Amino acid sequence: MTTDSIDTARNANRPRVVIVGGGFGGLSAARTLAGADADVTLVDRINHHLFQPLLYQVATGILSDGQIAPPLRAIFSQQANLRVRLAEVTGFDLERRTVYAVTPDGERLTLPYEYLIVAAGSSHAYFGHDEWERFAPGLKSLTDAHLLHARILGAFEMGAEASHDSDRERWLTFAIVGAGPTGVELAGQIAELSHRLLSREYGSMAQTARIVLLDVAPTVLTSFPERLQEIAHRDLAEMGVEIRTDAEVTRVDEEGVEVRDETGKSFRILARTIVWAAGVQASPLARMLGQASGARVDRAGRVEVNPDCTLPGRPEVFAIGDMISLDDLPGVAQPAIQEGRYVGRTIRTRLRGRRKRRPFRYLDKGTMAVIGHRQAVVDAFGIKLGGVPAVLLWGLVHVAYLVGWGNRLGTVGRWLWAIAARDRRELSISDTAQITAGHALSEDGASSAPARAAVR
Ligand SMILES: Cc1cc2nc3c(=O)[nH]c(=O)nc-3n(C[C@H](O)[C@H](O)[C@H](O)COP(=O)(O)OP(=O)(O)OC[C@H]3O[C@@H](n4cnc5c(N)ncnc54)[C@H](O)[C@@H]3O)c2cc1C
Repeated sequence: MTTDSIDTARNANRPRVVIVGGGFGGLSAARTLAGADADVTLVDRINHHLFQPLLYQVATGILSDGQIAPPLRAIFSQQANLRVRLAEVTGFDLERRTVYAVTPDGERLTLPYEYLIVAAGSSHAYFGHDEWERFAPGLKSLTDAHLLHARILGAFEMGAEASHDSDRERWLTFAIVGAGPTGVELAGQIAELSHRLLSREYGSMAQTARIVLLDVAPTVLTSFPERLQEIAHRDLAEMGVEIRTDAEVTRVDEEGVEVRDETGKSFRILARTIVWAAGVQASPLARMLGQASGARVDRAGRVEVNPDCTLPGRPEVFAIGDMISLDDLPGVAQPAIQEGRYVGRTIRTRLRGRRKRRPFRYLDKGTMAVIGHRQAVVDAFGIKLGGVPAVLLWGLVHVAYLVGWGNRLGTVGRWLWAIAARDRRELSISDTAQITAGHALSEDGASSAPARAAVR
């Protein structure tokens, strides 16, 4: 085991801050610490910051990896007090103020800290049925997006060559489990692909695709106001998406899904492409922190933190983002970003010798989901919008939060091209073995403990 000696040797007297995770929370904390009198180490098991809200656009051929996943080293190349380490964090010793990690080549690291920020996010949850993951992958990483991309586009390829109508139907049936924002966005995009964009390649066959959106809840987008749920429902239906609410998925296999409706009747949907967008489970690091500090961990595996995002009895250890439970805040990007900024400022205050800061206060900036190129729903600052104005607002907000001007301009360019030319730039399938169910899973090897979690 090696100690991370670079920071200590370089700045022996400066406090060390270790940040675990370069997602929304970790990135925001790290940026807030720019110029602080501390040595910051940002550890992530992937080398990029992933803009998860646009992952579905990689999965459906609109955007490329680089546009939503800039390397962490590039983002922080100008931040002199920060160092990026590619390693998977495996544990903590809160007594010794040490983080344990392992690099991709197996080197074991011990990272000492004076302040620790853990922002390790969440992964999919299959409600006690982890065996469903191989048939119904979720969308959480670039690896997941590539797998779904191959499955979705491969389904058209296989459908085009199927010798029996029943086979063709099965290939061209897409079942999406979970009608939260991710499920709705995916269903809308697959509908656009099949009903609007792929007829050049596959003729009228593409338009026969059946897209079924399933949720155990009585409506789509349960976290949105009722009026927006109705708009989203109407838009999806007009785009040809079959919506099955009050429908509980009771079995998933390579042939399709089994569903129980509100009357208790079971039926089967034969589908070769199944996407899981139904539940999330906090990173296993949340449970580790709970065990190490005595903090409670909820059913979704999230660790409960103090109002200032610290762990009980550990004022130097902060946890933020999707992996924490605080004031019933939703597992979306804004709480993670704002908490990251808050803990960064708290540490800066403490570095200056002051201790007291107000508890974290969340500013709700609203919520939005895009359905098609002219359909979206937005609920922000008291305004509830649907249609083209909502798409424009959604686009503005997402572009603003992308990292780097190159990515922002490139993304807008791709969107305009996709709308004007009715074309997608990223339609190549690089690994045809991924088309059939049972292929590789999430790059995080999601060790999510089975538990029932909220549909996001
Ligand atoms: C498909 C999808 C669509 C979404 N759409 C929206 C949306 O439209 N709007 C919205 O507000 N939110 C959306 N979200 C939710 C939003 O992305 C999350 O709430 C947000 O990313 C949480 O930030 P975080 O910092 O807590 O975690 P993350 O952003 O997930 O970052 C966690 C980081 O920790 C790293 N990590 C995890 N474990 C380890 C370990 N053991 N060692 C080292 N590194 C580790 C991961 O690699 C990752 O980089 C979406 C999420 C998904 C998956």
